[in-house]
Amino acid sequence: MRLVESEIARQDWNGMLCGCGDSAGHLAGDLSRLAGGEFRGESGRVGFEGHIWSEVVLWEPAPAVTSVALAALADDVAPTARAEFLDLLQCLVAGDGTDFVSSRRGLDLPELCRDVAVRGLWLLYEEVMSNRSIGAAGTAFEILAVVETDRARLHRVREIAADRLPVCCRTGLCVDDGPQAD
Ligand SMILES: [Zn+2]
Ligand SMILES: [Zn+2]
Repeated sequence: MRLVESEIARQDWNGMLCGCGDSAGHLAGDLSRLAGGEFRGESGRVGFEGHIWSEVVLWEPAPAVTSVALAALADDVAPTARAEFLDLLQCLVAGDGTDFVSSRRGLDLPELCRDVAVRGLWLLYEEVMSNRSIGAAGTAFEILAVVETDRARLHRVREIAADRLPVCCRTGLCVDDGPQAD
């Protein structure tokens, strides 16, 4: 069993309420398929919309999925699966709202996802520096732009990795504190 499967297996999916209104049990299989590169022919972002994230809220399984996405980055999943997990991670850290039921329990799901994601800080920096894919490096950088509290470190890495990042990241256009904060 790989890291990502082991992380999927340790979450209590059946005990969580999915955005689709069902138990989140189906997410275990969906995430395994995504990790194995066979996800119903659609992107992870699209496939999980309405289950863990939407434009408006995140649902209860979001922090557990954040953890699975980090495990996938630490694993040797295929480049396409890596890109899908990075995309998903970006949706989760960029979320603004919490579903009604979780919010009544006092949970702030976007905050919880960011807390989980920041524990994978160096995995994200590794992706930025890896020279594997400019798209994946850009997504990783944009996730860091949300979760990294040490802005000087982020800006330093942007300089070092400039030729491995898309233009939006290099110029700071996609980052709210942009280059003027250097
Ligand atoms: Zn669902
Ligand atoms: Zn960017």
